[in-house]
Amino acid sequence: MKIISSLSEFLVWRASISSSLKVGFVPTMGALHNGHAALIKGSLNEADITVVSIFVNPKQFGENEDFSSYPRTVEKDCDLLQSAGVDILFLPQYEDIYSDDVKSFAFEHFFSRQLEGKSRPNFFPGVVNVVSRLFNIVKPSMSFFGKKDAQQLILINKMVNVGGFPIKIIPVETIREPSGLAMSSRNIYLSKSQTISASKIYKSLLLAESLLKHGEKDARVIKNEIKKNLLVDPAISVDYISIVCLNDLKEVSGEVCSPVLVSVAVYIGGVRLIDNIFYE
Ligand code: AMP
Repeated sequence: MKIISSLSEFLVWRASISSSLKVGFVPTMGALHNGHAALIKGSLNEADITVVSIFVNPKQFGENEDFSSYPRTVEKDCDLLQSAGVDILFLPQYEDIYSDDVKSFAFEHFFSRQLEGKSRPNFFPGVVNVVSRLFNIVKPSMSFFGKKDAQQLILINKMVNVGGFPIKIIPVETIREPSGLAMSSRNIYLSKSQTISASKIYKSLLLAESLLKHGEKDARVIKNEIKKNLLVDPAISVDYISIVCLNDLKEVSGEVCSPVLVSVAVYIGGVRLIDNIFYE
């Protein structure tokens, strides 16, 4: 695996790659786990060359969020990527992404102001900026994103369509711990008992799925059941519980449409965790 930590070196490498080769790209913020590994595996299977980037993007964190304490485990990440068979690890510097002469791809969409966008107003503008900039540098044929961050996946798809990026966006299923807890770099903040509490997030989503399967159509009833299920645990406080129509991401207040995205964001001891299920 070649490790490239400057833009100029990356551009030289990129120019040396034949246009007949398919470059697969997995953008990450590091502290890699099996969820990231699934995206990387997808790229290794589908593409000729796999590029993984690690960049903890300050612009997608709010003022009181965990940018400075976000886990940074580059050495361990390198070992994982090396043994997975990744070709290029790109570690851009802040200036490579945000130098003054670089124009960011400004993209504002209704989708970015829903759900996570309401709770974290900096998040999607930050994500869209960094991903569009990375797409322009890496010029991949395809890029892999986890369904764990469902709204991000939907928004990046929109960005690619609206912005005319010739890139195929490939969704990857959420990878979970045996308890059902979605893998996340932030899980390492959790104590043992908080990890047990966190496993209730997915259980509450499975309950919602079961209600939908059994014909429950009232979104308020479903959201209420999720809430009741979560709040029996005093360690959990709810940021939002949401059911949106997948075609417009509008919140459903009455009868559920199909397909829907059911999402939950909670705090456990100050750690913010999200999860979701898609339901047709
Ligand atoms: P992050 O490093 O958290 O920015 O995530 C980088 C990519 O990994 C994003 O496309 C995420 O959706 C994806 N990802 C994170 N956790 C998981 C997971 N548990 N399962 C599948 N993909 C994931």
